[in-house]
Amino acid sequence: MKKDCLFCKISHGKTSTEILYENDTLVVFRDINPAAPIHLLIVPKNHIRSVNDLSEADQPILAEMVMVAKEMAAQQGVDKSGYRLFINVERGGGQVVFHLHMHLIGGWH
Ligand SMILES: [Zn+2]
Repeated sequence: MKKDCLFCKISHGKTSTEILYENDTLVVFRDINPAAPIHLLIVPKNHIRSVNDLSEADQPILAEMVMVAKEMAAQQGVDKSGYRLFINVERGGGQVVFHLHMHLIGGWH
């Protein structure tokens, strides 16, 4: 855990952020600046700065992020209507918090 990292704090329960899902590897919570009716963040508990910092050993984390995203989409009722999963990488790619996270957005009608 990195002391000055917001997502480390959230994923380790150090904030009042509502956690929608949690397991040993990751947590899921709502984006505070939603870009869609449903906007969730899938965030590993390990501090990894961005996709650029992933190592071979992190592959199971990525697989789990996608699998949990799929479950969350179903739970939020957007699995059939469709949704987007994306990861912004570094400042030029739109990354704002430098702790790896995947966005799940959907719920448009
Ligand atoms: Zn962090």
